Amino acid sequence: MKNYQFGADYYPEHWPEQRWPMDAKLMKELGLKVVRMAEFSWHKMEPEEGHYDFEWLDRAIDILRKEGIVSVLGTPSAAPPAWMIRKHPKIQPVGPDGITRGFGGRHHDCQSNPVYREYVKKMVTAMAEHFKDNPGVVGWQIDNEFGNSHYDLCMCDSCKTSFQKWLAKRYGSVDELNKAWGTYFWSQEYNDFSEVYPPVKTPCGANPSQVLDWKRFHSDLICDFSKVQTDIIRSIVPKEHFITHNCMGFSDIVSYYDLSKQLDFVCHDLYPFGYWRDHSLEPFEIGVELDGIRGVCKAPFWIMEQQSSVTGWEIMGRKPAPGQVPLWAVDSVAHGADTVVFFRWRSCLGGTEQYWHGILPHSGIPGKTYEEIGRLIKDMTPVMKDMEGAMPVVKAAIVRSYEQGWAFDIQPNVQGLNYYGQLIKYYKAFHHKNIPVDFVREDDDLSGYKVVIAPLQYLADPDLAAHYEKYVKQGGNLVLTMRAGVKERNNLCYAEGPLPGVFSGLLGITVEEYDPLGSVCVPVKSVSGSEDNRDASCDTCSKTAGNGLCASKWADIITLKGAEPVFDYDGESYEETPAVTVNSLGEGKAWYVGCEPSESLMEAIVDMLAKETGTGSVEGSDIKVPAGVEVTSREKNGKKWIFILNHTDEEKKTDISDRFRVLSGALKDNKLQPYGYAVLEG
Ligand SMILES: [Zn+2]
Repeated sequence: MKNYQFGADYYPEHWPEQRWPMDAKLMKELGLKVVRMAEFSWHKMEPEEGHYDFEWLDRAIDILRKEGIVSVLGTPSAAPPAWMIRKHPKIQPVGPDGITRGFGGRHHDCQSNPVYREYVKKMVTAMAEHFKDNPGVVGWQIDNEFGNSHYDLCMCDSCKTSFQKWLAKRYGSVDELNKAWGTYFWSQEYNDFSEVYPPVKTPCGANPSQVLDWKRFHSDLICDFSKVQTDIIRSIVPKEHFITHNCMGFSDIVSYYDLSKQLDFVCHDLYPFGYWRDHSLEPFEIGVELDGIRGVCKAPFWIMEQQSSVTGWEIMGRKPAPGQVPLWAVDSVAHGADTVVFFRWRSCLGGTEQYWHGILPHSGIPGKTYEEIGRLIKDMTPVMKDMEGAMPVVKAAIVRSYEQGWAFDIQPNVQGLNYYGQLIKYYKAFHHKNIPVDFVREDDDLSGYKVVIAPLQYLADPDLAAHYEKYVKQGGNLVLTMRAGVKERNNLCYAEGPLPGVFSGLLGITVEEYDPLGSVCVPVKSVSGSEDNRDASCDTCSKTAGNGLCASKWADIITLKGAEPVFDYDGESYEETPAVTVNSLGEGKAWYVGCEPSESLMEAIVDMLAKETGTGSVEGSDIKVPAGVEVTSREKNGKKWIFILNHTDEEKKTDISDRFRVLSGALKDNKLQPYGYAVLEG
């Protein structure tokens, strides 16, 4: 089905047809095996209503196929053409402000609009029928980056009706809806589902339960919009064709968990030097996106858009340093990508993305980027052929939940608190120690992990508590954090007992008071004294120069009900009360972190967990690397590949035992070049 290693996103329709054979020849010389095409080419494929023209695309596919390059076709539903919009202006989406977003960009479509859906069905059917027997076509991408550009759109009349139907199905009766949303507040009771609006701009405030359901509905709507297309394609094309979608890391408009049920595998679009930043993503920020995407299907994935050069719309981001583009591509492979498709083949002359540069510059003349990517492809292709399907072996997991993220998006609880920021903070501490991490769902089987971190389990129910309790009793180490068990699933506050609600018994604590700290820090100290001598300062305050151990953003004031204290607050009116606790239960332990830990405190907690559980870095003492060098691995059929990645602009000396053979990259005298990489046989 796969095994293509490297590819490019190609837009033949941007260039004269005479150029296509030259492009295909240059791609072959570079070592590319696959292209993605057509995801924004609706008008080229249906220039007038009902007049389909796929012949230009046939010719492009043929030219590529003759050079040994296969094609993935995108469905063009992210960019309906102007003729359709003129005829049916209601296809355009409406914002929360009631204002219609018009033609001239992309994603100017309402995904619930029945007229638009009919056009989409006809186009996807025509494409699938036309290309089903084309030997150059191997797979399909649905739409483009669901959730990107749409945000909280659309709130048009069609979406309002769809929302009302979705609510009627979820709650059965309007009385149940009133109960679930707490509509007694501010006289918001409904007599009928037809009275319910999407969360449009109001004079003041919004109902958090209503907004949470809107986010759920919106995610379901996107999955349904996609399923209309995947169902058509699957009913027409050969079963060898795959169907995928290009996701965007921790973007949360649509649940990738739900979306992936209809896909064969997921893809990710990776831009470490996005134009909206003046610095590259940190290594842990790249790693977290990649591990997050691997967690969606618990399988290897593709990068459908990998940064190849300078990116930009109105303004541009920095130029990647020599070596950085290859390093990022190898980083993708190191975390589980089987195929890396560079965005894009050639920088475009027109349109919004004319500064989003590709492998070739505007001139089309191969330059330094082409040469650098060519060296990478030559070096990595043989290793990647062998490695296809390999996965990392991981003993630590972080729970990622779309619903918890949505709930904190609606109510951050305190200035600066962010669900994904919290997940990433825990991830970073593991990443710095080169301890591999999986992202898992709340209800996943956790028994294979020695340690599971479940930050901000805000929405909870007895089933979730029982699930976690089972994991702990069987020997797991579970970490829950502040704001656990605050609400039931409909975003109403929990009233059956003190916090942390359904988790109290599991954690052996209660939290009767809390202090929403915001930007204030409270020092903490370890109960045993063993962790207080860290040589660090707090990343947010200057109170704790010397060890950096701080609680920030939030302080739960904990009463022990069987748990032991691990860290105590060292200030404020709750000085000497616990900030971090641990409760032994069955064969395992349930930890509670009642604050956002400073980086130094986070490191201390992760050190404790690693020690407690024997969770270590890849190959432990056989591989020693300095700061800034990442180590990961993938395994298949008893064979192991170890990746050593130098994320810095300096040469780095490593200490790697000579039992490892270098398969690709360079490790001369145990040294990595700036932005250098090495793949070792384990
Ligand atoms: Zn709509």
